[in-house]
Amino acid sequence: MTNWEDLHRRCMACQRCALADTRTNVVFEAGHRDAEVMFVGEGPGENEDLQGEPFVGRGGQLLDEMLSLIGLDRKKNFYITNIVKCRPPKNRDPLNTEQDACIGYLEEQIDLVRPKIMVCLGRIAAMRLIKPDFKITKEHGQWFQLDDGIWRTAIYHPAALLRDPDKRPDTFADLRAIRAKIREVCTRTY
Ligand code: SF4
Repeated sequence: MTNWEDLHRRCMACQRCALADTRTNVVFEAGHRDAEVMFVGEGPGENEDLQGEPFVGRGGQLLDEMLSLIGLDRKKNFYITNIVKCRPPKNRDPLNTEQDACIGYLEEQIDLVRPKIMVCLGRIAAMRLIKPDFKITKEHGQWFQLDDGIWRTAIYHPAALLRDPDKRPDTFADLRAIRAKIREVCTRTY
């Protein structure tokens, strides 16, 4: 049975894919390990790689600001990580081979956190965690429940919201739906 100490130790020393050669830090997690709500992005960017924490650059600040509007605070009531734990060079999408090498860590994190709600940040995470043909422009904000019973949805990645502010109203609507789902299925978040 996985435990946090063992999982963290294995992940921090990981050499399973070529991203190990170019990373500064393995970016394992932020937030609360006993949270009911889990956010998952695709991989660390430059600031995350330098600081060893997910979503700490401009996109991360925007995400934290948006989540604060629905009462979510990484210091209090959500957990956040990525599909791959090491930064892809020049912020390219993580390759399928890199995702395949790394996904086991995320699966162990999900087993340990046992969230009630999982929110994918962007297309790559949604294709991995909801369905391979997920279309973020059409299917953001929709809810899916797979065999494990976790409620899953996806919103635009914060980097996409920085590039295209016209997407923000859709995301605020999605966040209101997430708040409603939290009220429906979570007991400790609010
Ligand atoms: S991205 Fe994942 S699999 Fe690849 S070296 Fe980093 S921790 Fe290991």
